[in-house]
Amino acid sequence: MSNFRFKALEIAQARHALPVAPPADRVSDFYASHVFNNEVMRALLSPEAYLKMTQAIETGGKIDRDIADEVANAMKSWATSKGATHYTHWFQPLTGSTAEKHDAFFDITMEGKAIEKFKASALVQQEPDASSFPSGGLRNTFEARGYTGWDPGSPAFLMDNGAGGKTLCIPSVFISYTGEALDYKTPLLKAVHALDKAATAVCQFFDRNVSKVTPTLGAEQEYFLVDKALFLARPDLVMAGRTVFGHSPARGQQLEDHYFGTIPPRVNAFMVDFEFEAMKLGIPVRTRHNEVAPGQFEVAPTFEEVNLAIDHNALLMDLMEKVAERHSFKVLFHEKPFAGINGSGKHNNWSMGTDTGVNLLGPSTKPKESLRFLTFVVNVVKAVHDNADLLRASIASAGNEFRLGANEAPPAIMSVFLGETLTKALEDLENKSEISLQKGDNVYYKLGINRIPSLLRDNTDRNRTSPFAFTGNKFEFRAVGGGANSASTMIVLNTIVADQLAKFKIELDARLANGEKKELAVVDILKQYYRETKRILFEGNGYSDEWVEEAARRGLSNIKSTPEALGVYTKPESISLFERVGVLNHREVEARYEIELEKYIKNVQIESRVVGDLAMNHVVSTALKYQNKLAETAKALVDIGMTAEAEPVKDIIREISTRVVAIKNGVEEMTETRKRANNTSNTHETARIYATEVKDFFDKIRYHVDKLELVIDDEDWPLVKYREMLFIK
Ligand code: ADP
Ligand code: MG
Repeated sequence: MSNFRFKALEIAQARHALPVAPPADRVSDFYASHVFNNEVMRALLSPEAYLKMTQAIETGGKIDRDIADEVANAMKSWATSKGATHYTHWFQPLTGSTAEKHDAFFDITMEGKAIEKFKASALVQQEPDASSFPSGGLRNTFEARGYTGWDPGSPAFLMDNGAGGKTLCIPSVFISYTGEALDYKTPLLKAVHALDKAATAVCQFFDRNVSKVTPTLGAEQEYFLVDKALFLARPDLVMAGRTVFGHSPARGQQLEDHYFGTIPPRVNAFMVDFEFEAMKLGIPVRTRHNEVAPGQFEVAPTFEEVNLAIDHNALLMDLMEKVAERHSFKVLFHEKPFAGINGSGKHNNWSMGTDTGVNLLGPSTKPKESLRFLTFVVNVVKAVHDNADLLRASIASAGNEFRLGANEAPPAIMSVFLGETLTKALEDLENKSEISLQKGDNVYYKLGINRIPSLLRDNTDRNRTSPFAFTGNKFEFRAVGGGANSASTMIVLNTIVADQLAKFKIELDARLANGEKKELAVVDILKQYYRETKRILFEGNGYSDEWVEEAARRGLSNIKSTPEALGVYTKPESISLFERVGVLNHREVEARYEIELEKYIKNVQIESRVVGDLAMNHVVSTALKYQNKLAETAKALVDIGMTAEAEPVKDIIREISTRVVAIKNGVEEMTETRKRANNTSNTHETARIYATEVKDFFDKIRYHVDKLELVIDDEDWPLVKYREMLFIK
């Protein structure tokens, strides 16, 4: 009998690192060579068109028709000269992945001649057949039309199709016929705009020269790599992106020697290869290293403006999947592909920068700048405190549920880590209130504010267990899932901070109108905020049981289930927040909620089916065959008079029997529960049953399957084992 597992292992073991050659000698020779960026535009557009384009990009303004015509022409010539045959509007529907529909540049004239054509109308707006994208009821099927519209804020780029030819990809928004957002980008751009307005207004209290604030994002991407043959031999990885069974390897991550260890040659070749591809697309990938778990790695780009960073992250994930094919790997972005082993996050490093070149979350030794710095830090903390549940909602997904709040995973409690120095500064701010304005610049001395050293960047002052940590000159939101589109989170974060800064400004304006001194009023408001929000600050081990208890005492939420977390979106206060800031209207919020719930249900449903199928058709059937072998052995022993020696064999038979019965019962009950979940009349109830009841069976069934893995002859075991998948040469 052939065991698929051993064939796969043989194939995987025979593989070697692929040689990878750089596209050119120097990075600067190929970096962004596939991007229709500023430089290209300056070279190809008339000065007038170039100016209008850059203005539109800066301000997010509209582009005139004649300019669009010129840009379309330039794009076409540039793209075709580089081997492009097709173009597409490239967008991010609410499925979470990217979407594209390729149209050919060439057209046939009346005379039957082929010509290259790309008009402004095709650049600016397209109408993809959108009926298969989720809309959460925003589009009835009879009105299935949706539009994609060019986003000039993110440059067009060339995607290599592999089999000859390239496609010009035009980053776009995706909206319904009635104007509602069907994607991530539309509300993101609105949130970014709102943040700009609110933060600029606050900056003006400190520096009149600031006229624009841009939120920035650096998304560290964690991922696992599995050999393609082994991946294909695991139906759960293929179907659900995660292993539903598998006993922990004898040597897991206990030794932690994988972290920052030497990158295995095959993996290194893959990294170098996708980094070259990324660099051609102007994605500033910078660091690569092993992660904590065996088989886990990380890539981090340099931060960029939020909208661009998100496009780049989505593109990078696509690229990694494509390039992995060449290296016979599969990339897993799932948040928890292997039980008992660290999951994958996408740490969202976030800050705000001014057009005068200041990082608003960068500490300064100058007193005046320090006050501005503290103003922004404290307002962010306040925003997170007041909207912790909404932030939690923004990272809710079936995959992340295994990483947050499940076994051997960090809890789903939103807390903020500030570090010793910053905490001390805020304590001083709260307690040392004797301020003397006469001392000029020294006014802040007594507050201790100007003693915030640039040492804040010190690496020792780090907390790797905090979901939302200040890391020297930015906040790092670590709880975002590895497979997520960061836009969900960035929409919420920028919205809540924009809203908070607007509130701050109103309060400050009122005090100034009352004749209060500006600095004193600012300090006073910050003190009050600090007092109100302190309970969300936590410097200890965020993964400990004590913290879970302590957080409960503090009254912080710990929302474990995805449906419950998502429910926060449709609370009246959330809807009014999104409407107030101008990011999403109530219909859009409700639609998003429906879509996310449905995604969740589908995911858990698929997993549940995979659990049932693998348990019965792979595990139980193998167990029964092995049991049969054992029965023959026991019988033979008895036949030759070795009755006592047959006893241990019988014990194993009994164990297998017990486990087989438990698995079979579990699968049957799970199937019944699933049916009940599917037969309710509302999505929320279906999701609730999946989250609280169907999922309960996963661990119960798994427990027995993983025990069987230890008992059954290795030769017979059908599923590739953890130790075989996780340690790559
Ligand atoms: P560390 O490794 O100390 O956490 P890095 O400087 O390597 O810090 O940064 C980690 C990530 O944070 C990178 O993606 C980086 O580009 C990003 N980052 C740094 N500064 C900012 C900022 N001002 N805004 C957003 N992201 C930032
Ligand atoms: Mg990090």
